[in-house]
Amino acid sequence: MVQVQDLKNSPLAENPVIGQMISNNHEQLVFCNDNETGLKAIVAIHNTVLGPSLGGTRMWAYKNEMEAITDALRLSRGMTYKSSLAGLNLGGGKAVIIGDSKTQKSEALMRRFGKFINSLSGKYITAEDVGINTKDMEYIKMETDFVTGLPVNMGGSGDPSPVTAYGVYLSMKASVKEQSGNDSLAGKKVVVQGIGNVGESLVEYLVKDGAKVYINDINEERLKAVAKATGAEVIPADKVYDMDMDIYAPCALGATVNTDTLNRLKCSIICGSANNQLADENVHGNMVIEKGILYAPDFVVNAGGIINVYYELEGYNRERALSHAEKIYQTTLNIFKVSKEQNIPTYMAANRLAEKRIADIGKVKLGF
Ligand code: NAD
Repeated sequence: MVQVQDLKNSPLAENPVIGQMISNNHEQLVFCNDNETGLKAIVAIHNTVLGPSLGGTRMWAYKNEMEAITDALRLSRGMTYKSSLAGLNLGGGKAVIIGDSKTQKSEALMRRFGKFINSLSGKYITAEDVGINTKDMEYIKMETDFVTGLPVNMGGSGDPSPVTAYGVYLSMKASVKEQSGNDSLAGKKVVVQGIGNVGESLVEYLVKDGAKVYINDINEERLKAVAKATGAEVIPADKVYDMDMDIYAPCALGATVNTDTLNRLKCSIICGSANNQLADENVHGNMVIEKGILYAPDFVVNAGGIINVYYELEGYNRERALSHAEKIYQTTLNIFKVSKEQNIPTYMAANRLAEKRIADIGKVKLGF
C-alpha cells in the first residue's frame, strides 16, 4: 500500500496542484472546459466518507487558473470540516467558475456548467455562493438535480439565514456558559458587526434574551430600521473594536480577528457568523488565548446554513432543520472541552473533532 509519506516525498508532490491535493488529502479535482460557451470551471471534491460532497459555486474573476484551483481546494476542505462537525452525512466540495460575474454570464454557460455537475452523478451537489444568483441557479437546475439551497418559488428551502442566526445565538449561549456556568445572555453587552440577513435575525434573538445589543453596518438605512425595530443601539464603525463589551459578533466580513483588532478588543467572547474570522489561524488562534478571549470557531457557529440546505435534499422541513441546528450548542461546548483537555486553540479542537468523526464513520462498513 502506498503510504501518505511516500506520496508527499514523490516527484508528483512537486506539481503545485497535485502537491496541494496530496498534502490535504483531496479526493478529486475536475476541470470543466467548454470553448463554445467560454466556461472554465473547477470542481474540487475533498472528502466523501460521510456522504456526497456539498458546497456552493462561486464565480470570481481569478487572475489565473492556479488561483482558482487553490481557492476551490481550500474551500472544499473547509466544507468537509463544517459538515462533519454539524453531524451531517455530507462530504466537502466546492465549485468555482472563472470569470466576471457581472459581464461573463449567459444561460448557455450556466447550463453547460449544470451538465458538468450532472456528469458527476451526485458525488458533488452544488448551491449558491458569491457571484451566483437565483437566475443562475435556475439555469443550472435545468441540467441537473444535484442542486440545493434553492428559493421557495423554485421548490427549495429559501433563505437559510434565520437557521444560521439561531445557531450563532446557541453558540453564543454555550460560550457564556463555558465562562460563567450559566448560559443567560441577560445584561451581556454584545456588538453585532453587520446586520444583514443573519445579523438582523441574531439581534432579535439577543434582544429577546435580555442582552444589551450594539449594532454597526455600512448600510445606514438598514441600521436605522433594525435599531427602530429591535431597540438595539447604533455605534459608529470606529467604535466597533474599542467598546467596552462582553461579546464581539462578526457577521459581515472575514479576517476581522487580526493583530490590530485583538490589541483593541475588550471582549471576553468572539462568536459570529462571518466565514474565516481569524486572519491567520496559526497566529490569531493562539493570540485570542493570550488575550483571555474565548473564540467560538466560525465554521461551527455558522453551520445552520449548511444544515438548512441538507434538509432540503430530503424534502424540506424547517422544524427539522432548526431542531438539528440545536446541536450546535453542545458541539460548541465539546470543542471548548477538547481545547482545554488538549491545551490547543479552539479552532484546532474543532478540526480534531471533525477529523475524528470522519475517521470513525470511515471504519463503519456501510451497507449490507
Ligand atoms: P448579508 O450580505 O445579508 O449581510 C452582510 C452585512 O454586512 C450587510 O448588511 C453589509 O452592509 C454589512 N457590511 C459589509 N461590510 C461591512 C463593514 N465593513 N462593516 C460593517 N458592516 C458591513 O450577509 P449574511 O447572509 O447576513 O451573512 C453574514 C456573514 O455570515 C457573511 O460573512 C456570510 O458569508 C456568513 N454566513 C452566512 C450564512 C447564511 O446563512 N446567510 C451562512 C454561513 C455563513
